[in-house]
Amino acid sequence: MREPLRLNPVSALAERARAYSRSEKTLDYEFRVQKLKALEAAMRASEEKIFAALKADLGKPPHEAFGAEIGFIYAEIHHTLKHLKRWMKPRKKPVSLVLLPATGWQQAEPLGTTLIISPWNYPFQLALSPLVGAIAAGCTAVVKPSELAPHTAQVVEEILVAAFGTDGYVTVVQGGVEASQALLAEKWDLVFFTGSTTVGQKVMEAAAKHLTPVVLELGGKSPTLVDEDTDLEVTARRIVWGKFYNCGQTCIAPDYVLVHQAVKEPLVEAMQKAITTLFGSDPKASPDYGRIISARHHARLVSLMKGGKVVAGGQADEASKYLAPTLLTDVDLMHPLMQEEIFGPLLPIIEVPDLDAAVRFTKERPKPLALYVFTRDSKKAEMVLKRAPSGGAMINDTIMHITAPELPFGGVGQSGIGAYHGQGSFDVFSHLKSVVKKPFAMDLKVRYPPYPKSLALFRRLLG
Ligand code: NAD
Repeated sequence: MREPLRLNPVSALAERARAYSRSEKTLDYEFRVQKLKALEAAMRASEEKIFAALKADLGKPPHEAFGAEIGFIYAEIHHTLKHLKRWMKPRKKPVSLVLLPATGWQQAEPLGTTLIISPWNYPFQLALSPLVGAIAAGCTAVVKPSELAPHTAQVVEEILVAAFGTDGYVTVVQGGVEASQALLAEKWDLVFFTGSTTVGQKVMEAAAKHLTPVVLELGGKSPTLVDEDTDLEVTARRIVWGKFYNCGQTCIAPDYVLVHQAVKEPLVEAMQKAITTLFGSDPKASPDYGRIISARHHARLVSLMKGGKVVAGGQADEASKYLAPTLLTDVDLMHPLMQEEIFGPLLPIIEVPDLDAAVRFTKERPKPLALYVFTRDSKKAEMVLKRAPSGGAMINDTIMHITAPELPFGGVGQSGIGAYHGQGSFDVFSHLKSVVKKPFAMDLKVRYPPYPKSLALFRRLLG
């Protein structure tokens, strides 16, 4: 007798997700709308738990928890509900002369069964935002939250079970590297990964075995360029806010500042002042300032401070994982501070002769996820954007560009592959199938053998 096929637990849950995809339930617009609404309802019912989990994992202030995590997902769901019908419609395309009479279009079909792996820094948003795209596009999903934000990972699971049950439509798998690797050994129709560049490479390697497409939302060192012709007070405030939001643990946080030498001193002064205005003279006591995720990251950041001269902050408390908003000058460019993504509240400030030198500096390094330029001169800003590649960019502000669902968000080169949010999310979880429809009438004989002796007609049609 043949042994019955026994699947390991991960293979079994992947197979269940595939079976759900095959059931074709997800193909209908109404089904997707209902699931998006169920997700919102489950979130609203657990809001207090989400706030508490984010506080426990990252000391996240309520404004940041709502703005960048909970409210961010509500906005994403509402935007999707508003536009989904249109996104699902066939996108009409003109067809070439040789095809006529015919009509052409692209129609979105769900990629199928997808794996979403998320990091710890926005542990709620980054698990659920891709999921909104997966639901919208009609995919099933397995979500693996980050083990480093365990309270949030638990709430994510509770919410998804409350919204979708446990029938294989959306499944949460908890765990760390091992769980992630076991999942990556399975065959998926898309792997959507948010995390570090190093792990992103491993994810892509694993996916390549199955020829699975990947979206990689990675990190890097996002530069901030400050021209001499700028509003220093607003510039300083916007850099300080974007840098120290979530205690600097933001993939698009300004990693370092390249400032025109003529305004370096006043910019440092304005940033020192902005830190005090935003967080008080003792940021440790501020209810609006977060904490570092783990003791390991805390120790890493404390050691990175050796790469420059501390001109603001610098205080660290290991027990509470507190690290002050810190500005550094006289930076050693060969130190890990300037060689690795900082991902914490340390901001190196580097003086450059002009914006041209700043552009050259960024171009000698891997393409960043974001680039910020502060200047009153639109021509100079245009010059920077034209010459310096980056995943996304802002002129005269930081990090806020992520909030526009009409602007797909993603990296380039080492900072990532693919972009999402809004229709971008729907599109990355879809296959845009090109279709041509022909009538039976007008079946021109010229295309069939025996072919005409002369190529004249073909030459006229094709060039
Ligand atoms: P990470 O790469 O260490 O972990 C991300 C996820 O991958 C986690 O779920 C983890 O369990 C899993 N993982 C870790 N090692 C693995 C391995 N060897 N094989 C398979 N899976 C593995 O990243 P992190 O420390 O959680 O997050 C910080 C990084 O994420 C930073 O580089 C940051 O810039 C980046 N990030 C990018 C974005 C973006 O949208 N581009 C957003 C947030 C964070």
